[in-house]
Amino acid sequence: MIYIYLFVLGAVFGSFYTVIGLRRPLNQSIIKPASHCEECNHQLKWYELIPLISFLIQRGKCRYCGTKISFIYPLIEILSGSLFALSFYLFGFAYNTLIMLFISSLLIIIFVSDFKYYIILDGPLIIFGILILLIKYFQSDLKTILFSLLSGFCLLGVMLLVKFIGDKLFKRESLGGGDIKLAFLIGFIVGFKLGLVSLILSSFIALPYAFYVILSKNNDEMPLGPFLISSLLIVFIFSDYINLFLKMFYF
Ligand SMILES: [Zn+2]
Repeated sequence: MIYIYLFVLGAVFGSFYTVIGLRRPLNQSIIKPASHCEECNHQLKWYELIPLISFLIQRGKCRYCGTKISFIYPLIEILSGSLFALSFYLFGFAYNTLIMLFISSLLIIIFVSDFKYYIILDGPLIIFGILILLIKYFQSDLKTILFSLLSGFCLLGVMLLVKFIGDKLFKRESLGGGDIKLAFLIGFIVGFKLGLVSLILSSFIALPYAFYVILSKNNDEMPLGPFLISSLLIVFIFSDYINLFLKMFYF
């Protein structure tokens, strides 16, 4: 029962996060104008705004002009709902469940804004960063938090170094400011060692997409945020296993 509840909650939040990710980079309000069909401007009623359900009932079309609604929206809602349910499945009644919920929330917003506009919003980074800081405060002590902050700064330093080398190598801006701020958050959440693992993992996950971007040629810009936050989530979930694995090699 709790899984269904969390899935629904995640889907609702996912649809809200999509609005944030689509509108905030353009400095538009989240509440005004109300959600409407992009084609005919028909304002959606409450029963047309139910995550997943409305999409299924309307068979993915606007009820007024029949324009197809992108299947990306229900996909994001399913992803968000699944991550919310998975958080509780993995960690149960623990602080880590909350941390995973916050990482998942950030993931959805970054997926939308970075894929669409190549932007990682400061607001969500700050808000979820503070929420995770509070959780860490309840979970541990001040010393641990200071150490986490230090880890964040160290990973930020690594990312700046990567940017410096990348800028020289490609003779253009290789990493955005958002990626660097996100690196700080990654170091803060999982620590320096696992943060490095995250960075390395993200470049592997991003590789197929990078090839796709290079081959398609029409656009040589590529968002890194979605891959960074995905690997953060993976490393956070498997942190115990990764730590064990690293110990085998004396790290
Ligand atoms: Zn319409």
